[in-house]
Amino acid sequence: MLNMIQLSKRLQTIADRVTQGYRLADIGSDHALLPVYLVQSGKCPSAVAGELNDGPFQAARRQTAEAGLAARISVRQGDGLAVLSPGEADTVVIAGMGGSLMATILETGFLAGRLKGAKELVLQPNVGEDLVRKWLVLRGFALLDETILEEDGRFYEVLHAAPLPDAAERNGHLYDPAFLDVQMPHAAAAGWLYRMGPCLLRSAEQHETLTDKWRQELLKLERICSGLAQSDTEEARSRLASFRAEINQIGEVLACLPMVKRSSR
Ligand code: SAM
Repeated sequence: MLNMIQLSKRLQTIADRVTQGYRLADIGSDHALLPVYLVQSGKCPSAVAGELNDGPFQAARRQTAEAGLAARISVRQGDGLAVLSPGEADTVVIAGMGGSLMATILETGFLAGRLKGAKELVLQPNVGEDLVRKWLVLRGFALLDETILEEDGRFYEVLHAAPLPDAAERNGHLYDPAFLDVQMPHAAAAGWLYRMGPCLLRSAEQHETLTDKWRQELLKLERICSGLAQSDTEEARSRLASFRAEINQIGEVLACLPMVKRSSR
């Protein structure tokens, strides 16, 4: 009996979102840890592991062969979703890259029809989560749930989405900031839903980690402000004002989370 792969907390959270029995595509798979784990554990009957770069592609092939799963995991080298044929995967996972690259991979793949037949997406952008949420809304994917976790001092968000027929209506409700008790223009409040996560903001049990993440962001912004305050150029003053406005808005949203927590119970 071969040893089962042990996943990090981040990869395990992603694996837990994948629906039992679905065929997987893991794009940007690196060492193919996720597909090997999901096929080994019996959760996925088969998988495609896509990788652009040579080193990780070879590592994925090695990992798959060592696990004795070369017949059930197809390791392919290529850019984003180009490795996938339409209808070939039920679950598409893209994890561990920036939101901008992820949105580009999704859009290119979507336009080329590579997402046809996909029943769910599990996405874990390292930064720029708002770009991924905007893409999901644009292309008719409903956000089913979001999870935030901390590992080794870093925060990760896992977005689970599906191409539902009523996605536009669901997203319309989800991104309506009326539930937040904030004194800012509607568009600004909606912008914070994209940046902080509409499900995370509504999910009382995730508020503590969400607040920890945004307190860390506040510290970073305050350090930037201290630097800018040393300069008296017009540009520095204007950037300082905009960072201070951002700090105030983050504080305002965080301050109303306990209220969301009470009313969502
Ligand atoms: N998904 C794994 C995880 O979450 O642990 C690996 C994340 S690793 C930081 C990002 C991987 O994406 C790298 O192995 C990189 O080579 C690959 N990658 C970057 N751009 C890509 C693209 N356009 N298509 C496929 N893979 C890509």
